[in-house]
Amino acid sequence: MPGMDGLERIYKMRRKHGRDDLAIIGLSGQNSGSLSARLLKAGANDFLNKPFLAEELICRINQNIDLLGQINTIRDAANRDFLTRLYNRRYFFEAGKTLLANARRGNIQLALAVADVDHFKRVNDSHGHDAGDHVLLAVSSTLEQSFRQTDVVARFGGEEFCVLTVDRDTDTPVSVFERARRQVEALTLEWAGKPLRVTCSFGVCIGHRDNLQEMIRVADEALYQAKNNGRNRVVVA
Ligand code: GH3
Ligand code: MG
Ligand code: MG
Repeated sequence: MPGMDGLERIYKMRRKHGRDDLAIIGLSGQNSGSLSARLLKAGANDFLNKPFLAEELICRINQNIDLLGQINTIRDAANRDFLTRLYNRRYFFEAGKTLLANARRGNIQLALAVADVDHFKRVNDSHGHDAGDHVLLAVSSTLEQSFRQTDVVARFGGEEFCVLTVDRDTDTPVSVFERARRQVEALTLEWAGKPLRVTCSFGVCIGHRDNLQEMIRVADEALYQAKNNGRNRVVVA
């Protein structure tokens, strides 16, 4: 690479992207001795000696793309809930820890909500478990669309969700949860030709605490109040 060292280039790229995120295939010239080994050590996933057949390069590229795809599938299986494809509890704590650390450094403002579908058991009891799953999918995608990419929306289990929101300069944290509540309430669902109504209650903890468990405990108490005060509402601790 004229004017640029290929190894240095790989080091730089690897600082931003891991091997499981970006595949790099090094190309080494004839008589380059140990270069291919050095490329791999620097972080290349694969290498080819020049000259090479175009077909060989295409095969290597495809194999590397397939491998990245498989890694993504495995990552999703570990991080996401099987039914709703939302993040799971395990991922929530993993991602949440980083956000909490940033909040402690004063970089971002956090709010956490625990949301629970109201009288969900009645849906299962009256319309069956499949109808319940249909409602869970609709609520999940509504919640996911209500929040930003930088927020973490997770299914905590059953009909309970946890949302960690980041930096709200324009909206107050309560208003984003209030908007999500209204969007769930506005869903027009039906099952076997019959309309289904669904609402959610939200308990919210604004501002970070010592750890995520503590934030969840605070939000859970607020959720308990939301349920006692008549459901389909947002209560801030
Ligand atoms: P509340 O308003 O107090 O939250 O009442 P609720 O009926 O929503 O709460 P409860 O805890 O009594 O019932 C939750 C139900 O959720 C019971 C359980 O069978 C059902 N459930 C949990 N996970 C799933 C699931 O993956 N699919 C379906 N269809 N139902 C589920
Ligand atoms: Mg419930
Ligand atoms: Mg519940």
